[in-house]
Amino acid sequence: MRITGIRERTVSVAGAVRNAAIGFAGMTASALVIATDARRGGKPVFGIAFDSIGRYSHGGLLRERFIPRLLAAAPDAYCDATGRGVDPLRAFDLVMRDEKPGGHGERPGAVGLIDAALWDLAAKLEDKPLWAVLAARFGTAAPDAPVAVYASGGHYREGDDLAQLRTEIERHVAAGYTRVKIKVGGAPLAHDLRRIETALDALRADGSLAVDCNAALPRERALAFVDALAAYPLAWIEEPADPLDFALLAEVAARCALPLGIGENLFSAADVLNLLRYGGLRPDRDILQMDISLSYGLTEYLKILGTLEAHGWSRRQCVPHAGHLFAFNVVAGLGLGGHETAPSGVFAPRLPVERGMMRPDDAPGVGFEHAAEFQEVFGELVA
Ligand code: MG
Repeated sequence: MRITGIRERTVSVAGAVRNAAIGFAGMTASALVIATDARRGGKPVFGIAFDSIGRYSHGGLLRERFIPRLLAAAPDAYCDATGRGVDPLRAFDLVMRDEKPGGHGERPGAVGLIDAALWDLAAKLEDKPLWAVLAARFGTAAPDAPVAVYASGGHYREGDDLAQLRTEIERHVAAGYTRVKIKVGGAPLAHDLRRIETALDALRADGSLAVDCNAALPRERALAFVDALAAYPLAWIEEPADPLDFALLAEVAARCALPLGIGENLFSAADVLNLLRYGGLRPDRDILQMDISLSYGLTEYLKILGTLEAHGWSRRQCVPHAGHLFAFNVVAGLGLGGHETAPSGVFAPRLPVERGMMRPDDAPGVGFEHAAEFQEVFGELVA
């Protein structure tokens, strides 16, 4: 098997919504295709990846450094022992050649796209869904077990914010979700408390609510915020403070009995090690949300899981950020604690949800080709 080309396309994922930190009016993402000389069922086999949302596209870094390194390598440097499959763990070292440790910046998202496309390719060359490949190699759960999913949304909108929030949550409940996450921290506290009460009211009695501050609160507001939220039955409070201020996270954790959701803006095993050492988090309740695609991909995420487990954390506490089909496959295959899905987002899994659970299907690879938006986003890249 030989890689014959790698193409990136930047696509708009703009939306008229905002959270406490950013608006999405100019948001972009990268679509990536790895072409090969392999064929299955008479058709060429591609490795396909799509960005996580919220950090913009990675086309510049990909074209400048990372794509040329992989294209320059000999096939026996990235193939598996049979020569017919690809070994993403070996290819990762090729892509990361001559990269210094630390200072992660935008680099992990670029590398993570190539890594994700290689895992899609590896699974397709085995003619298996990615979750099944990962379950066999690295998993602990029953491989076709349904995955706990929650609906992520509840952004601030222009107009009647509370009415639109209620309508959105009622739509998620009707679709089968029992857990929903909404944005807070981007409005005066009194309005955010009304958002929380509106959301709790729109959920059924067995529903649960999480809130996301998007790391936008300075210290005094963060502390006042978690104090004010202590009265509500929340599943977790997400990113109440700057993601790299571990002392402040520890201060928040010490006065907040509710679970915290942390980690979507840490992009390496080294950063996660610092979070565990200094962030004051509690393995019995807190949720770890490192984004697989933005953290150099699955290859680095496996190192992150090793770091967590060495520090007494269960992978069941992991609910990765910004779920689309790639993250869903990883959650299902590795037996993680749950999947964040954005029901109105790009490449969210469109599988039936039953009482907050979603069962993966048998599409080979990640399954991007079966998504409704595939032709629009990837059509010219696979042509
Ligand atoms: Mg978040």
